[in-house]
Amino acid sequence: MQLTKEKFIRDFKDAVHEAQLIKVPAATPTEAFVSLAKVIRKYYTPLWLERNRKISEDQKKVAYYFSIEFLPGRMLETNLLNLGILDTVKEGLADLGIDFEEVKNAEHDMALGNGGLGRLAAAFMDSLATTGYPGFGNGLRYKYGLFKQRIVDGYQVELPDSWFGSIGNVWETRKDHDIVDVKLFGNVYLQANEEGRIMPVYENAQILRAVPYDVPQIGFGNDNINNLRLWDVEIPEEYELNYPTVADRRRVQDITATLYPDDSSYEGKELRLIQEYFMTSAGLQTIIQSYLKQNRPLENIHEKVSVHINDTHPAVAPAELMRLLVDDYGLEWDKAWQTTVKTMSYTNHTILSEALEKWDAELFKNVLPRVYQIILEIDNRYVAELAQKGVNPETIENTRIVKNDQIHMANLAIIGGHSVNGVAKLHTELLKDDTLHDFFVLFPEKFNNKTNGIVQRRWTQIAAPELSEAIDKTIGTGWRTDIHELRKLNELADNPEILADFYQVKQDAKAKLAAYIKETTGIDVSTDAIFDVQVKRLHAYKRQLLNLLHIIKLYWDLKDNPDLDMVPRVFIFGAKAAPGYHFAKSVIKLINEIANLVNQDASLQGKLKVVFLENYNVSLAELIIPAANVSEQISLASKEASGTSNMKFMMTGAVTLATLDGANIEIKDEVGDDNIVIFGMDKDEVYQHYANHDYYSRGVYESNPTIKRVVDTFVNGTIPNSASEGTEIYEALITHNDEYFLLEDFEAYVAAQAQIDALYRDKEKWSRMSLLNIANSDKFTSDDTITQYAQDIWQLEN
Ligand SMILES: *Cc1c(COP(=O)(O)O)cnc(C)c1O
Repeated sequence: MQLTKEKFIRDFKDAVHEAQLIKVPAATPTEAFVSLAKVIRKYYTPLWLERNRKISEDQKKVAYYFSIEFLPGRMLETNLLNLGILDTVKEGLADLGIDFEEVKNAEHDMALGNGGLGRLAAAFMDSLATTGYPGFGNGLRYKYGLFKQRIVDGYQVELPDSWFGSIGNVWETRKDHDIVDVKLFGNVYLQANEEGRIMPVYENAQILRAVPYDVPQIGFGNDNINNLRLWDVEIPEEYELNYPTVADRRRVQDITATLYPDDSSYEGKELRLIQEYFMTSAGLQTIIQSYLKQNRPLENIHEKVSVHINDTHPAVAPAELMRLLVDDYGLEWDKAWQTTVKTMSYTNHTILSEALEKWDAELFKNVLPRVYQIILEIDNRYVAELAQKGVNPETIENTRIVKNDQIHMANLAIIGGHSVNGVAKLHTELLKDDTLHDFFVLFPEKFNNKTNGIVQRRWTQIAAPELSEAIDKTIGTGWRTDIHELRKLNELADNPEILADFYQVKQDAKAKLAAYIKETTGIDVSTDAIFDVQVKRLHAYKRQLLNLLHIIKLYWDLKDNPDLDMVPRVFIFGAKAAPGYHFAKSVIKLINEIANLVNQDASLQGKLKVVFLENYNVSLAELIIPAANVSEQISLASKEASGTSNMKFMMTGAVTLATLDGANIEIKDEVGDDNIVIFGMDKDEVYQHYANHDYYSRGVYESNPTIKRVVDTFVNGTIPNSASEGTEIYEALITHNDEYFLLEDFEAYVAAQAQIDALYRDKEKWSRMSLLNIANSDKFTSDDTITQYAQDIWQLEN
């Protein structure tokens, strides 16, 4: 959109006067933020109306991305950048004496997600709007986002993240005209109606009101606005007598109160099932209503609607769509089933078996009695059809939805849809060969890969403005709209002046992070050190502990030889542990205690520093990632489905230190073997150990004195204040046979770290590697990923 600075200043002043009854100079950053948001809303509202009008006039097919998590972070700067008015607004505010950074920081992160999965969903929203495809999000409007993490005495403490604060969500619009009801609990029996059709009769069901709040998703540079619809729950007035006490009401409000802070393990809570069903049912109901306005037959809904199931949380969708089509709209089962399968598609995000959702049949039946009947019918028909085709009984049993009194949600999503995708090449291969092999044999045509991506705009233009300017200076500004132009940097990677420029940009980003570290932790770090970063959810498979083992080895090396010639290193961690994940919390405690130990030890001469930054979230990622020299992506091969922070680091010039896991493999393919440091077992070697049952960590520990010394450090009193956590870690590594093969990969990791040290000493060589990483990161733009979804899976037109 077009905007002059003068008009912006007038609009902004008016908004401040109107909203706060004060003059601009008196406005606090929060007041300035609220007024600025009001001005921006005014700017985009006509664009949003026009977009909705156009989509319905053109009767375009729309994809709905169902996800229990969305993790956009802050929206202000993205909205301004995408509208094309970021610079104008910054200049206008500067003229008024207002610091844009302060205003920006007044916005609370929208953290309705745990980590990679939610961040991906948010990236796809941005990219759908940017590529122009009609793709809308569907999720829950949690009152509290992911918990706020504080570190107290080295321990993680969880506080509620009340992100609405005093100002609410300035971007959302409540849509009363799209309210629908959702039914839970009660009894259901079937009865013939007057026309002889068998209909469900509900008794004692709980009826709740689903209220949509729409959040605009603004495309970059195209004035396209899509919609992210988040559902809240309310008690319908006509049923308020059913909720006489505050406690009764609170139980209902709980449905949208909090995001489950559980990153990858299965949470078997009734409330979680209700959350999943609530957003799915409400979403599907409004989708049908909006489709019917086009006066087309429901049995062809797949021609105008795609529903995407992001991980298994919304996997009840095929059954719920069947319920709506058959019960509420009177479609024949077979016709309803055909259109349902063509409408639905599913992304699998993990091969970790504990994260594949299963519901206890009794619990499911109690909460969703009618949907349960429908799932039984889908399951029966599935089994009968395959048996009739002569499929062997074992395959049928492995793939059916209901077995051993459990409902297997991934199976429902696969059977009830036409597409199943993994999120990186290796991950999709593992799904086909292993986790979902029986399905692959039955339905090979359903399987496809869509490697994850990142919104390049957030990680370069917003998080790394100085880097972006350096890129402008070398290849022009075309890359800002066409990320593939970054490849032009490949030809410049031998130019010492350019390399020096980019080196300086990294140094400046490091200085900014160093100041933040000093301010928040009191720790002094030097920008001459290698900034070695591992930021991601804390999980055993991600192996933060392997990083820690190496730090302990360096500690002993330096204690043995204080004059050891090593490039100073700052190890930086950021990670939240799920509140119930004991082991992960113990790793956090140990990182902090080891940080205390090494940071205070003058004999180490500042060569080794360890920093744990609390409350890792998108905004902190924006500060940390551009300042990294080394990107730690060290999960056990086969366990990380894709990873996306690996892509953010690459794009901002860190060198990846990685196992051959997830998208690390594709990063290596893009950047070349010389510009990445790979170590450790690959997926075949890991699987061989599983097949041969031949890994014995105690054997490694007893035969390798270095490893023994490192591991013993956890239990011999070296690290203060962590006896019980140290014992827990020792036992995980030795007594419980080191499930994630840390000791097996340890020596290779140490060697890889030594290689990093050697490479970094050659400043020009390192700068070249760094630049080549930026130059070849374009493959990971989520704009391209979403284009593949839109074309291959959803058949959309932009
Ligand atoms: C990108 C991102 C993640 C995902 O990190 P991985 O290393 O891929 O697991 C998690 N949290 C935040 C805040 C992110 O920005």
